[in-house]
Amino acid sequence: MNLKDINAVGNLLSKPQQIVIVPHKNADGDAIGSTLALWHYLKNMGQQVHIIAPNDYPKFLKWMPGHEQILNFEKENSQAKALIEQATLIFTLDFNHLGRIGQMESALQESQATFVMIDHHQAPSDYAQYMYSDVTMSSTCEMIYNFIEFLGDDDKITPEMAICMYTGIMTDTGSFKYSSTTSRTHKVVAALIDKGAENTRAHNLVYDTNTPSRLHLLGCALKNLVILEEYHTAYISLSQDELETYNYQKGDTEGFVNYGLTLHGIYFAVIFIENREEGIVKISFRSEGEFSVNEFARNHFNGGGHTNASGGRSDTSLQETIAYFVSLLKEYKAELNP
Ligand code: 5GP
Ligand code: MN
Repeated sequence: MNLKDINAVGNLLSKPQQIVIVPHKNADGDAIGSTLALWHYLKNMGQQVHIIAPNDYPKFLKWMPGHEQILNFEKENSQAKALIEQATLIFTLDFNHLGRIGQMESALQESQATFVMIDHHQAPSDYAQYMYSDVTMSSTCEMIYNFIEFLGDDDKITPEMAICMYTGIMTDTGSFKYSSTTSRTHKVVAALIDKGAENTRAHNLVYDTNTPSRLHLLGCALKNLVILEEYHTAYISLSQDELETYNYQKGDTEGFVNYGLTLHGIYFAVIFIENREEGIVKISFRSEGEFSVNEFARNHFNGGGHTNASGGRSDTSLQETIAYFVSLLKEYKAELNP
């Protein structure tokens, strides 16, 4: 976002607006943290503001201050639609094309509101009048901090806002270890702790939430791990039957994909998760180093994301999806050999 854009958004916020904030479908810690931090900020300035999530999100995020205000577009459909119709200003956070919000896409497309996008994924589309798009950022939460600071309001960051932003940075950086973590990220996190983010509490509430069935599901996933040494690749699959055996709850598979990368000599890790209800296989891709899983997901699995973390989907069966995936690796052999 250049200075002109920031000033323009600042000007819009100096007048009363009807504001809606939208995270992506299957929201993660960064999506929920950034929408909540912005929600607190705008509400404290006296604006009318609502968060509408396209669908439900994991339980391990349902403690963040303000989470009970988040509307679910699938469940509270008529209320959510009315708010979108009335909106004068819509912030979309942690995604950059409207295909990432599922059923909510048509409601936003019909809206007459001014759109502001704040996001750190690659290849933004151009639906927003004002864009703060930066792929070098660790997280959308770090960008919300910057946005508030640009507007000269960092003294208005409350402990509630601070813990929301802290949590999103923590989850999107794998607890400050991925390569997107910069010294600036650490400075922002330090400032958030000074502003009242209880850091240990955030770690406990997000990561120390295992259930016996989730640990058993992890055991099943690790048993299913396949290593393709030739391609420095490892993948995991979970069928719908396996998910049901271990009483799968939304969010239970979070982080499973990363186990492949902990193996020596593995630079590309994938997890395939069958979703019979939606008739798709949801796929997460992770890499270490140069190999761009963003491009891989974009080219072959209708997805996208970042260089080292992306997602996509397939409409064929789990077995067919995996067979297709393995067949693709040949053409990437050189790239996958560092
Ligand atoms: P995850 O594998 O944790 O769901 O997602 C990894 C990254 O890829 C996240 O930044 C997420 O926003 C992005 N991503 C996940 N699924 C999709 C998808 O279907 N399309 C696009 N464009 N990005 C995705
Ligand atoms: Mn993010």
